[in-house]
Amino acid sequence: MTIREIGCCGAYCKTCIEYQKKKYPNQTGCLGCKLGYDTGERDLDKAKCEIKICCFKEKNYETCVDCPNYPCKILEKHWSKKGWKYQQTKKQLEFIINNGYENFIKISDNWNGPRGKLFL
Ligand code: SF4
Ligand code: SF4
Repeated sequence: MTIREIGCCGAYCKTCIEYQKKKYPNQTGCLGCKLGYDTGERDLDKAKCEIKICCFKEKNYETCVDCPNYPCKILEKHWSKKGWKYQQTKKQLEFIINNGYENFIKISDNWNGPRGKLFL
């Protein structure tokens, strides 16, 4: 239950089914957005996600809400993709802006996936 378990884009890795399947070091399942880099299990230079590279690798933020450029063109592009999940991660970042990381973790720990209901 830490901020590290929140993806830069607002997805919550800890409760994601793909993250539950993760296995080091053969890397099956999803390894989470920001996890495993501190311990040397993963190499941040191999990151492919544009959001993660900008937010976590280059700027060393936990999520994009920490960034003075929020919301930027990279995020606008992400949010414009087809699918509920992209809009939902936008709402999750907005929830963090309005209510803080602690309250986000409090509600998201009960989810069954990386996105969920936003009620305190
Ligand atoms: S889409 Fe990118 S920023 Fe979002 S959780 Fe996945 S790797 Fe992280
Ligand atoms: S510039 Fe955009 S993608 Fe990069 S950290 Fe800031 S808000 Fe996130």
